[in-house]
Amino acid sequence: MLSVEILGGVGEYGRNCFYIENQRQAILLDCGIMKNTQKTPPNITFNHIEKLVAVFISHSHIDHVGALPILQNMGYTGPILMSHTTAQQLPLLIPQVRTFYPDTIGKWIEVNEYLAFQWGYSGHLIGSVWYKIRFFDEMIFFSGDYVVDSYLLKATLPEEDGTVYDVAFIDSGHAEKCIRNLEVLQQMAMYVKAHPNHSFIFPSSFSGKTVDIMTYLSEHTTRAIRVDAKLQPLLAHYDEEHENIWPNKVMLLERLKQKQDSHHVLYFVSEQDVAQVEELAMDYPTAIFVHTGYSRHASNPASLKHISEEFFYKTHPDYWDLVELSQRLRARQTIYFHSTHTNLTTTFPKEELKRD
Ligand SMILES: [Zn+2]
Ligand SMILES: [Zn+2]
Repeated sequence: MLSVEILGGVGEYGRNCFYIENQRQAILLDCGIMKNTQKTPPNITFNHIEKLVAVFISHSHIDHVGALPILQNMGYTGPILMSHTTAQQLPLLIPQVRTFYPDTIGKWIEVNEYLAFQWGYSGHLIGSVWYKIRFFDEMIFFSGDYVVDSYLLKATLPEEDGTVYDVAFIDSGHAEKCIRNLEVLQQMAMYVKAHPNHSFIFPSSFSGKTVDIMTYLSEHTTRAIRVDAKLQPLLAHYDEEHENIWPNKVMLLERLKQKQDSHHVLYFVSEQDVAQVEELAMDYPTAIFVHTGYSRHASNPASLKHISEEFFYKTHPDYWDLVELSQRLRARQTIYFHSTHTNLTTTFPKEELKRD
């Protein structure tokens, strides 16, 4: 029998950390901190650490890996599993990290005699993955952060082999929204074209969303794309793991780099680099700011003088994605995480419902 303990990340946005015990052994799914000023850690105790035999990491964002140093300080010395590309994105070196490569997709990887897993792409960030885990005789699914309809990144699910999961953890980060990412991209391209005499500044996150947007706008407008130094490593990962990208989109990434210069550029800058955002606001006094997620206007006083527009692009499943994911992943218990709009009692309609 599995016993699940939520150490953070259910009913809240951040510090994702799920502890699963079986026959006095335990595994951890992600180990994140809250993105607040206190950097609230998950509720890990020495009792947890004692039984821990493996940690599964879905991707490199701080709300999924930020508490790994705490694990180490508490004496955990077992394996920490993640994709090769995720490991490259981590700011610090962790000796127990064990990585896997695209050639293992669809295969069982054994951690020990009672623990094995399969993995696949989750579409949220280059290198981000889901896990199908066999723990003794029990089956677990963990979506990680999931984007059903990324423009560039593959999002897959485990092969449908009749598995009924004992527990499934599903990202519900945008449960309160209904969004089609392709429509958002189309609206953005139209907006850019409607303002031919303006440059644009996109304060952007280190995520698949950012590369989706720059690629689509490079393909569908005549503008040159400028990518700030702090976001360059993100693009470099796309060059290294083409398996993660829909095959028909790989060419678009090449074109992104070859684009001729244009008078009014589309500038992508790290949203966390407040000083650089402010500098750009001054360098491009007539530029329009485009925000693509939960708004951060307040942190950029100079940018407040600029025209700004909001286009919300999904980085998590919305309501309809959740209906579909819940139907496709057959599970005895489903735990929805990554949202203040869902909690341990949340369910989604099981009957055939269709968007529209
Ligand atoms: Zn994330
Ligand atoms: Zn997250």
